[in-house]
Amino acid sequence: MAGRAEGELIAGFDVRRAFGASVVLSGVDIMIRRGEVVALLGGSGSGKSTLLRALAGLDPDATGTITRHGRSAVVFQEHRLLPWKRVAANVGLGLTGDVPRRVAAALAEVGLADRERAWPAELSGGQAQRVAFARALVREPDLLLLDEPFGALDALTRLRMQGLFGRLRAEHGFSALFVTHDVDEALLLSDRILLLDGGVIAEDIAVDLDHPRTPDHSGFGVLRRRL
Ligand code: ADP
Ligand code: MG
Repeated sequence: MAGRAEGELIAGFDVRRAFGASVVLSGVDIMIRRGEVVALLGGSGSGKSTLLRALAGLDPDATGTITRHGRSAVVFQEHRLLPWKRVAANVGLGLTGDVPRRVAAALAEVGLADRERAWPAELSGGQAQRVAFARALVREPDLLLLDEPFGALDALTRLRMQGLFGRLRAEHGFSALFVTHDVDEALLLSDRILLLDGGVIAEDIAVDLDHPRTPDHSGFGVLRRRL
């Protein structure tokens, strides 16, 4: 209950996961509070996706204590749209209530109001990922869990998506844990950076680009020194 009072949305304590003899997570402690966007940074194969899946409750073989408050929605690196359903049906999957209105509003927010009847195969990579965002947002999540959501996109589309992410955050005020291997993206989009290394959270660094009291205070210097 204390967690709730502090606005804690998700917490993992001593999260562990091994694949056979290969230990990927060896006791991760992590907490995301309401209002925060936290970047989970780490090298390729460091276990970022494994941790995100565990936190999302998608990995029955992960151990540890994970507590969640509120609704969460996951966006993966690949859009994971169902190819046999049109865009609107993908976004509205499993929703109740005024589904057409909610779906239309969500698609408008990601700039795809005119693609409701398109098939996933007719979309560009960036459009498909925007549909994946709409599918997450329409559920009005308290917490977004994002696994390299812009990782599969070309550089220009990635820039646009980063801008969209900022706008959507300003409008919806969601909290997020997003996985990236891109330091610049982490600094651009997050309030806090967690570095996953050696199976644990090796660093937890606040980012404050708006109020850099010293060059180091922004997080840049700290991050450089510790990476
Ligand atoms: P990251 O997302 O940081 O690149 P992953 O979490 O995908 O890393 O993977 C971490 C390690 O766990 C890698 O060595 C990967 O090969 C291994 N791994 C991930 N999933 C599986 C699996 N289903 N079976 C066996 N090994 C896996
Ligand atoms: Mg990954």
